[in-house]
Amino acid sequence: MAYRFPRWLSDGLGTILDVLLPSPCITCGRTGSAMCAECLEAVERFRRPECNSCGLPIPPDTTQVHCDECLRARSAVRAVRSAGPFDSTLRSAIHAFKYGDRPDAASPLASLLLAPVTRLIAGNPIAAQWTLVPVPLHPNRIATRGYDQASLLALHLARAVDLPIDARLHRVRETAAQVGLGRHARLANMSGAFRFQGLPIIGTVVLVDDVMTTGATLDQAARACLAAGCTDVCAVTLAREP
Ligand SMILES: [Zn+2]
Ligand SMILES: [Zn+2]
Repeated sequence: MAYRFPRWLSDGLGTILDVLLPSPCITCGRTGSAMCAECLEAVERFRRPECNSCGLPIPPDTTQVHCDECLRARSAVRAVRSAGPFDSTLRSAIHAFKYGDRPDAASPLASLLLAPVTRLIAGNPIAAQWTLVPVPLHPNRIATRGYDQASLLALHLARAVDLPIDARLHRVRETAAQVGLGRHARLANMSGAFRFQGLPIIGTVVLVDDVMTTGATLDQAARACLAAGCTDVCAVTLAREP
């Protein structure tokens, strides 16, 4: 079943930890918060107009609503919105969040997803029931890292926008690193990597992940959700690697 994360629990724990262990900013190192306001402000955002499907900027004078790439290739994910390009401040913040043992950075980073998810919902007024579904790591990877970054982002985002979370999407196959693989190799590598467990999911799913590269991971996660009964899949990510 979808559930809502209890705000009192995370607020209370967060406040206690902030007082006991003031954390350095993951990008500039200044003490005070997991990612300071200046660094959040420094994150480059995608300009608009944006492609209706992938969310990447399109020329302002075009009459198209989709970019050329989306006119060519179809994905099981109908629409993606990302905060900004996988570059400079955002790139180093995400790297520190994932590999630097900094789960506390999930809260400030999730604030970057507010604008993308709001644009997604505003652009689809007909869709009635929205549910956030984190794109999970394989359990072996969670055991090594100690946390699942997409799940933490989704928890904070769910609180901020008051949407339910459904955490029944599982990564059932360990996949090779996608780095260096072409689009077709990435799709083959991710094929069958996810399974949705339990009762059908209804309405529109919004997948939550940290970075979108070719979209192969989101595509396979979306296929698992569609197979579980949802009518539509969109996605939000912190960064997009064009
Ligand atoms: Zn900073
Ligand atoms: Zn596009």
